[in-house]
Amino acid sequence: MDETTHQLIEMLEGSPVLVGLYDQFDRLRKANRAFRQAYSIRSNEDPTWSEIMRRNFSAETGTVVRTTNFEEWLISTQSRRGKVGYRAYETDLHDGRWLWMTETVSDDGWMLCVASVTTDLHSDNRSLRQDRDNAVKASYTDELTGVANRRFVMARIDDMLLQRRLDIRLSGCLAVLDIDHFKVINDRFGHAAGDEILCRFAKEIHANIRRSDCFGRVGGEEFVLVMPRTSAAEAALVLERMLSVVRGMNPLGGGHGDFRCTFSAGIAETDTADVSLSLYARADKALYAAKSGGRNCIVVAESEADRSPQSVAP
Ligand code: GH3
Ligand code: MG
Ligand code: MG
Repeated sequence: MDETTHQLIEMLEGSPVLVGLYDQFDRLRKANRAFRQAYSIRSNEDPTWSEIMRRNFSAETGTVVRTTNFEEWLISTQSRRGKVGYRAYETDLHDGRWLWMTETVSDDGWMLCVASVTTDLHSDNRSLRQDRDNAVKASYTDELTGVANRRFVMARIDDMLLQRRLDIRLSGCLAVLDIDHFKVINDRFGHAAGDEILCRFAKEIHANIRRSDCFGRVGGEEFVLVMPRTSAAEAALVLERMLSVVRGMNPLGGGHGDFRCTFSAGIAETDTADVSLSLYARADKALYAAKSGGRNCIVVAESEADRSPQSVAP
């Protein structure tokens, strides 16, 4: 390590500014003393962000989380966490301090968090600013499942297409997922059980996505997964894995016997000329092919080079 880098690391360790670095799986890989103290992290451990939040919530330390349902809060926050290159916001700690937190995300999904203490600054309009932040958060969240909503995922599709236009090597994929025979599920178990299945489905898929991916509900029982920097073959593997997770879940618990549900999905890879609607339309067409092909499967849409849809799942 050269002298300057060494000096930088030494000074960061002793600085009152909070600095933490998370990898693409949201595991804390490096943090300075101020960061570790604020969130009660020992120097010899590398917990994930969810673990840090969960244990701070139950010990009433670290970030003040204003919710009566922590798990719901976690999924909703996670579905938007690290999906844009940079964001900054005010947040408060149980010890009474206020922070101006910044999050910078690299293309490969690492996240650098840097926060300075602003307890004595601009405290007069703080609740107004928090109300505004909460309103923005709500406008990006699907009310039923807590994952990102259509508005948020459509913006991520635009980001992915912009990346592709700037660098042709950065093609990504869009998948549209639709639960099979959901109407029958509603008719058989009732609308409330249907809602419950939507929530469980969203939670399971959400737990299986990479940071660089964005998962959201776009309506009814239809969801999308935006996968930047991902080839169609890789995307098909990701979706296959999700399909096997969903096939294996028992979304209504034991109460309704051994009930299982499945989904069908269409995948489309970005093309230079694409706008979000054309990409969406191709993924939707592939989804339609998956439905007509018997459901419970994944279809990759035709690309410019190959105009016939191919089924990749059983
Ligand atoms: P397919 O396999 O072809 O997708 O069949 P399907 O029955 O899933 O599709 P269809 O589009 O015919 O029906 C979707 C159903 O989803 C109809 C609607 O009542 C139900 N639905 C839409 N939104 C909600 C919701 O928020 N909660 C519940 N419980 N049901 C919903
Ligand atoms: Mg359906
Ligand atoms: Mg549908």
